[in-house]
Amino acid sequence: MFDKILIANRGEIACRVIKTARRMGIKTVAVYSEADANARHVRLADEAVLIGPAAARESYLVVDKIIAAAKATGAQAIHPGYGFLSENEDFCDACEREGIVFIGPPVSAIRAMGSKSEAKKLMEAAKVPLTPGYHGDNQEAAYLHQQADAIGYPVLIKAAAGGGGKGMRLVEKSEDFIDLLASCKREAISSFGDDHVLVEKYITKPRHIEIQVFGDTHGNVVYLFERDCSVQRRHQKVLEEAPAPGMTPERRAAMGKAAVEAARAVGYVGAGTVEFIANQDGSFYFMEMNTRLQVEHPVTEMITGLDLVEWQLRVASGEKLPLAQEQLQIRGHALEARIYAEDPAKGFLPSTGKLVHLAPPAEGLHVRVDTGVEEGDEISPHYDPMIAKLIVWDINRDRALARMLQALADYRVVGVANNIEFLSRLTACPAFATADLDTGLIEREKAYLFPEGEVVPEDVWLVAALAELVREGQRAQEAARSHRDPLSPWHARDGWRLNASAKRELVFRLGETQQAVDVTYCAGAFRLTVGGRSVLARGELNPRGLLRVELDGLRMDATVIVAAEKRHVFLQGRTWPLTRVDPLLHTGEGAGAEGGLLAPMPGKVIALVAAEGAKVEKGAPLLILEAMKMEHTITAPAAGTVKAFRFGVGDQVGDGAELVEFEAAAA
Ligand code: ADP
Ligand code: ADP
Ligand code: MG
Repeated sequence: MFDKILIANRGEIACRVIKTARRMGIKTVAVYSEADANARHVRLADEAVLIGPAAARESYLVVDKIIAAAKATGAQAIHPGYGFLSENEDFCDACEREGIVFIGPPVSAIRAMGSKSEAKKLMEAAKVPLTPGYHGDNQEAAYLHQQADAIGYPVLIKAAAGGGGKGMRLVEKSEDFIDLLASCKREAISSFGDDHVLVEKYITKPRHIEIQVFGDTHGNVVYLFERDCSVQRRHQKVLEEAPAPGMTPERRAAMGKAAVEAARAVGYVGAGTVEFIANQDGSFYFMEMNTRLQVEHPVTEMITGLDLVEWQLRVASGEKLPLAQEQLQIRGHALEARIYAEDPAKGFLPSTGKLVHLAPPAEGLHVRVDTGVEEGDEISPHYDPMIAKLIVWDINRDRALARMLQALADYRVVGVANNIEFLSRLTACPAFATADLDTGLIEREKAYLFPEGEVVPEDVWLVAALAELVREGQRAQEAARSHRDPLSPWHARDGWRLNASAKRELVFRLGETQQAVDVTYCAGAFRLTVGGRSVLARGELNPRGLLRVELDGLRMDATVIVAAEKRHVFLQGRTWPLTRVDPLLHTGEGAGAEGGLLAPMPGKVIALVAAEGAKVEKGAPLLILEAMKMEHTITAPAAGTVKAFRFGVGDQVGDGAELVEFEAAAA
């Protein structure tokens, strides 16, 4: 076995590989770009080598720099992870030249499977069933058009070198073929540097079912069953599971056999995945082979109890496969959800920024979280915006679904937009829950997945108000503790006032909806009134924002995270990013910055609307911030005076930066 390996990747997969290497007593070397100097994979590795600027093209994708890092640190082998150089023939060759073991298949297998067209030719010879279509060398537009007509519409044009769901065009009718071919070729050239395409019959309502295979250098090849990755968005996987619902032992054996034959046909060694497209009747066709560890490999690990990275390391160091086909078994059901920093409400636009608060669900037998980030880290625009993979396991699919819903409900992310609620809805939607799966599920279930005009439940406003009041009480106590006279009535936060009644109003906003909560202080509790409903509320708040709530004797748990003016309320599996609307917040204590208005997210100042020194009314626009390709207007929290702007037009500002010095007029 190796003493030391280098991991030519970043993020969750680099961390994942380090974990297994460490368990096996193997030292690890990380590589990192300037943007990743403080990344989790760098912190976890035994050694780390800087390989260049943020752009992957100048760091993670530069073969020579990675080889040099391996030589400098004495790493005997390189694990490429997925993406980046994992399927790069030149990289594989370079490793071989330098006497470094590439933890993956032989370069000949990568070459054979690198082109979807060449792969299909090989599979044809190995008698593996293929999606009907044309995958020959003739690339003349008129000829391809003829082929498409013969196949019958709809057809799919695919870049032979494509990957990650890119370089594909669905053609519904003959008249559209030529235009879509041209656009597919343009994308293929710019994304993959190769405009060779193939044409396939477009299967309607298909499922994506893939088989995990493993080979060793002693001629053994096994399959580790299937994964169903039918739930996709734009041909990219969103939820994955194993085993595939409805799979019969006979079909599993047939697909397993076809996959093993595919692997044998290219002399495969190590972990690989043979992807099939399956019809609803169970018939299946070879689609492509991915010659690397797959993003969704954890679901296979959960149902087999195996560590696939350990297998990769054993095979790469020349050992035989640890188990034979007969010894492999499926136990229970596993699901994986890809948690991304992206905004489902804005067309899944990637979101960048600091992970102000990050609290994943507790890991254990049933829940696993593979991640490359920790609280305080940034999701940068340079790389894939994946925050984590959430994997759950239980004895059957229904119980695994329940685990997933619970784990998603427990996941708290503040600082970037994310798809957690979308994933919850997806997991809960009847089509997914009953395993009515096909690659069109998300499109078909749009109405359920993107509900419109939702009303904020009263409990959400109440919980937000309660958290605010409890936090104020805590701050008052802290202040009192550090004060000479802790018993002074001036520190009391029980509503006792010299000249006012113990009543106030807290105001919150979500989008266009503004809601006031009336507060009356009672001994050890608050009477809160919202929209005519009045409850007696008590709460206990911990420093991580966990709030034990009691509303009229009814107990529930919530989390309320403060980020500048935002109050992120997590309640019963939902997140409500409320904004605290309070003139006092910007002028008096608790403003965060003395008398300043804070940036709600990182962005660029694009206009100063008010003039310095101007007297303005409450709600008057003061400044416009552009963030996440959207404009945000910063308005006056109360009537008052604009004392000074802290930034000029064109300046970049960080999350929570003080933008405007503002003085509210005396009430
Ligand atoms: P999987 O089936 O493992 O999800 P994907 O095709 O979605 O495979 O890709 C896995 C990872 O590799 C993703 O992070 C994706 O962004 C990356 N990836 C896929 N194709 C390419 C490519 N051609 N160039 C760079 N990265 C890629
Ligand atoms: P990539 O290399 O981008 O992963 P694939 O060939 O694996 O490309 O296809 C990606 C996805 O596109 C599949 O998972 C499936 O949802 C869809 N797809 C591919 N081929 C077909 C087809 N012939 N008919 C219908 N859908 C297809
Ligand atoms: Mg694929």
